[in-house]
Amino acid sequence: MKPIPYGKQSITEEDILAVTETLKSDFLTQGPKIQEFEEAFATYVGSRYAVAVANGTAALHLCALALDVKPGDKVITTPITFAASANCIRYCGGEAVFADIDAQTYLLDINQVRNMLQASPIGTYAGIVAVDFAGQPVDMEAFRQLADEYGLWIVEDAAHAPGGFFVDSHGKEQWCGNGNFADLAIFSFHPVKHIAAGEGGMITTNSEALYKKLMTLRTHGITRDAALFQNSTDIAGGASDADEPYPSWYMEMQTLGYNYRITDFQAALGLSQLQRADTNLATRRAIALKYDEAFRDHPHIHSQLNEMQDHPSGHAYHLYVIQADDRLDFYNYLRQHDIIAQVHYIPVHLMPYYQQQGWHPGDLPVAEQYYKRCLSLPMYPSLTEEEQDYVIQTIKRYF
Ligand SMILES: *Cc1c(COP(=O)(O)O)cnc(C)c1O
Repeated sequence: MKPIPYGKQSITEEDILAVTETLKSDFLTQGPKIQEFEEAFATYVGSRYAVAVANGTAALHLCALALDVKPGDKVITTPITFAASANCIRYCGGEAVFADIDAQTYLLDINQVRNMLQASPIGTYAGIVAVDFAGQPVDMEAFRQLADEYGLWIVEDAAHAPGGFFVDSHGKEQWCGNGNFADLAIFSFHPVKHIAAGEGGMITTNSEALYKKLMTLRTHGITRDAALFQNSTDIAGGASDADEPYPSWYMEMQTLGYNYRITDFQAALGLSQLQRADTNLATRRAIALKYDEAFRDHPHIHSQLNEMQDHPSGHAYHLYVIQADDRLDFYNYLRQHDIIAQVHYIPVHLMPYYQQQGWHPGDLPVAEQYYKRCLSLPMYPSLTEEEQDYVIQTIKRYF
C-alpha cells in the first residue's frame, strides 16, 4: 500500500488541458486568465474584488502594506497558524502580538483579545490577523464589532477555508473572505490547500480603495492610469496630442511595490480547480463526518469542536485535527502503518525567531497544551473509502 499523507492535491485531465491551452496562447504572465480567475474567485467567496498574487504569503504581505503597517505597529494574531500569518507584520517592521487560542475551537480566543485591548490605551494596537484554522471559520461578526470599538482593521487569513462560512446573528451564512466583516482576506493555492495552482494566492475585499492599492502594490507600485499621474507632461516627455497628454509608453512608479504577480498558466490551473471546489468541499465534509462518527465518545481522541453543530456544513475542513494522548508514540505507530499524519502547528511564538522577539514557553498555555496533543489525520478529496476505513481501523487498534 502507498503511504497515506495528511493532504494531497489532485490534478485532472481538464486541469492539464487548461494549463497547456494557456501555454499555447500569447500570454505567460499577466494574461486574461488572471482576471478570469479573480472574477470567478470573487464570485465563489462572495466578495466584490479579488487580486491574484504569487502565493499566500505575498498576499499577506500586500495586505499589511495596503493597511499601512509601520515599524512599531502592534498587530494581534494567533500562535496556531502557519508562520506567514505573523511574518507579514514583521515584513513591515510591525510587532506580531500573539493572543491565546480557545481550547475547544483552536481559533484565536476573542475573550483574550478583548482583555488585551481593554488592558492597553486606545491606539496601542493597529489590527488583527485572524485565521480560519483547519477550515473552521472565525466568527468575523464578533471580531468586527470588537475591532470597531478599538479602531482596528482585520485581515482574515482564510488559506484553510475557501467555501467555509459562519452563521451571523441574523441567521445568515457569511462566507469566509466575503469582505462583509474583515477588511481584507487572503487565500493560498499551495498544492496542499483546497485549490491548487502550484503556487498562488488571492486577496479578497469589498473596499475599492484597498483593491486599487493592492493592484499597484502587486506590480512594483506602478500605475499606467493617466488620471493618476503625478508628474507633469514635461517630465513625461511631451504630449502626444490634446486627447492624450502623456506619451503611450509612459507609466509611473508611485509607491514602493513588489513583483508579486501570478502567471497566466497558474491562474488557468486555479480556475480549472475552482470548478471542482464545491464537490471537493462536500467530499471533505463527508470524510470529516465519518471521522466524527468513528471517534465519537472515544476516551482518547477528541476532534475540533465544530462550532456549527446546528449547521454542520460551515467548516471547510482543510485539516481534520484530533487531540490524542501520547501523541509522539501514536504518530510513530501511524507512520509504521503508512499513515503520515502531521502536526499543525508548532506554536509560532515558540519558533526561535519569535523567541528572539521576546516570546517564551509558557506565554500562551492553551496553545502550548494544544500543541502537545494535536495531530492532523488524512483529509483530502481523493482519499478513498477503503483508505479512510484503514486509517480508522488502524487508529482504533492502537488504543
Ligand atoms: C499556506 C498558508 C499560508 C501561506 O500560503 P503560501 O501560499 O504557502 O505562501 C498562510 N497562512 C496559512 C494559515 C496557510 O495555511
